[in-house]
Amino acid sequence: MTERNDSWDISTRVLHADRLGGAEAGALHQPVHTGVAYGFDRAEDIAAVFQGRQKGFAYARTGTPTTQALERRVNLLEDGAATVAFSTGMAAIHALFFALCNAGDHVICTSFLFGNTASVMGSLTRFGVDVDFVDATESANVAQVLREDTRIVFVETIANPRTQVVDLEGIGKLCAERGILFVVDNTMTSPWAFQPKRVGASLVINSLTKHIGGHGNALGGAVTDTGLFDWAAYPNIQDVYKRFETAAWGITQIKKKGLRDTGGALASDVAHRLSAGMETLGLRMERTSSNAQQLCEMLEAHPKVARVYYPGLKTHPQHDRAATLFRACSSLFSFELADSVDCFEYIDRLRLAIPSTNLGDTRTLVIPAAHTIFFEAGPERRAEMGIADSLIRVSVGLEHPDDLLADFAQAFA
Ligand SMILES: *Cc1c(COP(=O)(O)O)cnc(C)c1O
Repeated sequence: MTERNDSWDISTRVLHADRLGGAEAGALHQPVHTGVAYGFDRAEDIAAVFQGRQKGFAYARTGTPTTQALERRVNLLEDGAATVAFSTGMAAIHALFFALCNAGDHVICTSFLFGNTASVMGSLTRFGVDVDFVDATESANVAQVLREDTRIVFVETIANPRTQVVDLEGIGKLCAERGILFVVDNTMTSPWAFQPKRVGASLVINSLTKHIGGHGNALGGAVTDTGLFDWAAYPNIQDVYKRFETAAWGITQIKKKGLRDTGGALASDVAHRLSAGMETLGLRMERTSSNAQQLCEMLEAHPKVARVYYPGLKTHPQHDRAATLFRACSSLFSFELADSVDCFEYIDRLRLAIPSTNLGDTRTLVIPAAHTIFFEAGPERRAEMGIADSLIRVSVGLEHPDDLLADFAQAFA
């Protein structure tokens, strides 16, 4: 049997990936390898592994059989050419940008951006990279700031917390025409709901902490090369990595410079937990997306709610785009209360939903976004991002929908 059967849905493929990938002793889960160092029979073998002439493991910071099995699974989910795993989503994002950008480069970035990624963009700026933020729901806004020295266009699929859906197809086309690296953070949708490769993404980022791991019990991140980008056209590849085939240049530099320099290595036992969580990704996404849809419809009709933001709602400005591109609209939505309702008091009256900052958990989590995750952004930037003081972000869990609907309704009383 082969590892991959293209007629299988990704939810089927991932369940059988370890077995078909050749896990030791026929184990259905890749075992947890805790060793840091690997021994060799001959000095020539360790040299060959170091130089990338021979497959193998040298030191756990650059991978173990367990983290490699996880990379293979994420790669299957994204239909990728190669994947590198990291200790967190932030480590993956940091490694990608610092491995691929030089001082003087230009980066275009969606303005509706995960707060911690915005912080990385700030660091890039300090190191001499010029970053432009644009409203990426229209590809024309990206085209307008494109320059000769633009190296990367970076977007997320669904923005957190206001759920704007980026013009993924338009930007994909634009980047393909101009030969620019198109990087998509797929954390919010997850590869079950959307594969960025379908719109021409060059590299895909996933925080494995969120939907993929799915249980709020393990941190992890990954970068996947979709195989669509021609790395021969990328000016920042270091000569030392050009001894590999051209298709591998980008992911090699992300691993050899990014992973090594950040030291953001994923631990084997954590990789094992993420792998187990990943096996129910499709089931969980179906349930949380359906729960979110029902909650949003209830809230939208409620007199004490001013606005609800969820791409699954017909009133959402990018509803048609989301319906075309995504298999489901995922677990995250946000809403603004009517002026008469205090968001802190409302949250305190919820009995099931928990005030907490994570998303993609099994449990429903709520957070007053302006006062917490976007507090440091300040009032001006929050206004630009459309984050009102009363905005409540919700990450919907796997609870029974009737219990969730009852909880969010009783909290208005
Ligand atoms: C959470 C998140 C990250 C960072 O992931 P961590 O695993 O928490 O470091 C990156 N991008 C998006 C869109 C996220 O939601």
